[in-house]
Amino acid sequence: MKECTLCPRECGVDRSQGQVGVCRSTDEMMVARAALHFWEEPCISGEEGSGTVFFSGCSLGCVYCQNHNIAKGLAGRKITIERMSDIFIELQEKGANNINLVTPSHYVPQIIQAIDMAKRKGLDLPIVYNTSGYERVETIRLLQGYVDIYLPDLKYQSGQISKKYSNAENYFSYASEAIGEMVRQVGTPIFNERGIMTKGVIVRHLTLPGYLQDSKNLVKYLYQTYRHKIYISIMNQYTPMSGLEQYPELNRRIEEAEYEELVDYAIELGVEQGFIQEGETASESFIPEFNGEGV
Ligand code: SF4
Repeated sequence: MKECTLCPRECGVDRSQGQVGVCRSTDEMMVARAALHFWEEPCISGEEGSGTVFFSGCSLGCVYCQNHNIAKGLAGRKITIERMSDIFIELQEKGANNINLVTPSHYVPQIIQAIDMAKRKGLDLPIVYNTSGYERVETIRLLQGYVDIYLPDLKYQSGQISKKYSNAENYFSYASEAIGEMVRQVGTPIFNERGIMTKGVIVRHLTLPGYLQDSKNLVKYLYQTYRHKIYISIMNQYTPMSGLEQYPELNRRIEEAEYEELVDYAIELGVEQGFIQEGETASESFIPEFNGEGV
């Protein structure tokens, strides 16, 4: 925290003295919502819900962010590590299938301490690490033995596209290396008797309008590299948010035909372990309210 290099931005700022880097976060954890969440993949949410903790701030900062208020650190409350551990226990008491840490990368050291504390208080749920994928492998190594399920995005293969929308030309090289470490740590997927995942990696890809070829490249890369060691979740829920005037090409939803072409491509490749989305998922009503619930 004194010279932060937790993520590939390597800002080097002293977060313990209140300085902030790209993630706009000091060393005090900010959380926007902690509640049961039912819209993850079925093996994560189940019927009981996933105990989801939405952290404020983000080190990637995509222009089309679906949660832009919290990503910019504009929503959320400061909490201590002790309080974080209590939140985990409260979610367990509400019946959550797991503890699902959303955009956690910039708080990894604090989260490790909170998990240790919560385990001493009786936490006995799988921990899900739900990330943009823009990670340093050294930081992911710190999580060995703490995280059971990795839920990384793999957003772009092309450095040109990742530069344009996330100011991260090196996105693919960092994300692909991090995913390799995640698979090494947790191995092939394991499910309990109710079909809930207890260990494994699900890589998510949010299909962007107009970038079908990049999406196909990513699906091919994942399948050829990992085959049945991971699940691939192909998402169609992209919702254009306000503030996209400079990016008119992103100001529309995915067409059904684009999405179907990508799904058919994955099936033709041989992908069997995957998730697709059906029906009307591209709607702001699927984005939860970041009102401090459960914090
Ligand atoms: S975690 Fe934040 S401050 Fe640290 S390197 Fe990443 S963006 Fe910069």
